[in-house]
Amino acid sequence: MAPFDFTTLPTRNPKRIAVRIQPNVEKHLRSGHPWLYVDRITSTSHAGNTGDHAVIFDRKNKFLGIGIWDAESQIRLKMLHAGSPVKVNDDWLNQRLQDCFAKRDSYFDTTQTNGYRLVHGENDGLPDLVIDRYGETIVIKLYSAIWLPDLQQIVATLQAHYAPHCIVLRLARRFKSDLMQLRDGMALVGTLPTQPTFLENGLRYHVDPFQGQKTGFFLDQRDNRSKVGELCQNKTLLNVFSYSGGFSLAAAQAGATEATSLDISQYALTEADKNFGLNQHLSAVAACQHHTVAADAFAALKTFAKQGQRFDVVVTDPPSFANKQDAVPNAIDAYTRLNRLSAQVVSKNGVLVAASCSSRVTSEQFFDAVLSGVHQAQRTAIVLDKTFHAIDHPIGFAEGAYLKCIYLQLD
Ligand code: SAH
Repeated sequence: MAPFDFTTLPTRNPKRIAVRIQPNVEKHLRSGHPWLYVDRITSTSHAGNTGDHAVIFDRKNKFLGIGIWDAESQIRLKMLHAGSPVKVNDDWLNQRLQDCFAKRDSYFDTTQTNGYRLVHGENDGLPDLVIDRYGETIVIKLYSAIWLPDLQQIVATLQAHYAPHCIVLRLARRFKSDLMQLRDGMALVGTLPTQPTFLENGLRYHVDPFQGQKTGFFLDQRDNRSKVGELCQNKTLLNVFSYSGGFSLAAAQAGATEATSLDISQYALTEADKNFGLNQHLSAVAACQHHTVAADAFAALKTFAKQGQRFDVVVTDPPSFANKQDAVPNAIDAYTRLNRLSAQVVSKNGVLVAASCSSRVTSEQFFDAVLSGVHQAQRTAIVLDKTFHAIDHPIGFAEGAYLKCIYLQLD
């Protein structure tokens, strides 16, 4: 395949937009919040294009911060920096990327874990940009067109640091590209190996960065997977919303006797089976019986309860239930219902591990919903732990905290 021609991408107007804002949002931006909504902007020097840099001046006409203009979004300015004046240029971007890489390089022993998030959007000071590494494959996911003028530099920086075999581009659903040459799932560099794999805590996983959910894997649950593993020696696990079997593999590695992966997607379950296949050289994984159930989680849990099936450890890690603010009450009800049904199939003294990735549902609301579900199932719970994101998914601002998880031992 011909290499991607970066010269076809839009360039940035070197003339920066001067922006003035309502005084009451100054504090908010100064404290590091990365979003400036369009209705907070009182004037601009000229009409900007998506990707242009814009400088905010405060009520005293002093530099407040700098961001990238997004003409397509209600969040019109995505902040890169607030505070004392800085020059945001190629060197600045290079330094910010290097800082992200250096942190990740220090977190992981790549002989055990070489799948991790290199850049976590706003939380790493780079709004709308996510970069995940899966061994020799790197995936760049863009949530808007604001980074197109910098894409070539981002790719070059990744090549210089990691020398990956392949760099894949993913475009978020909300990114509507009218640039014909940009396609979701295209290779920007190299060609994708037919079976790209990576390591997480010594387990090998297959990943499909072209079509898989997110960039192909739920890296944010890494620490919970190993924690669940610790609970599973000689135990049975039910992994509800299993995707490609991450929790099941971690349990098997730690000595679970049986792991059941339950997901509505047959594709996900085929991946889970494939992942068990990739780890048969580990005796604990080879000894663990892996079952798959392709079904709606709510319906399957009801059937298990009716049949009197019980599991020592039950994990529930559903997709987000609240994609909009007005969906929050229904999401809370769904968490309660889900965890009522799950609590019914947990063995005596077994553990329920309930996770939520809905950023609009706060951790307090979620933990309350889980506990009331457990209560409705007439089980008594001890809270063993509450956890949040894995270390490579830092939380840089309030809305950045989406993942929460509670570990409960049920009588
Ligand atoms: N726990 C996983 C990630 C889960 S992602 C991991 O560690 O990798 C959410 C999963 O829920 C997806 O695989 C999706 O196919 C599945 N899903 C969505 N709706 C479902 C439903 N109603 N019943 C069962 N699975 C569902």
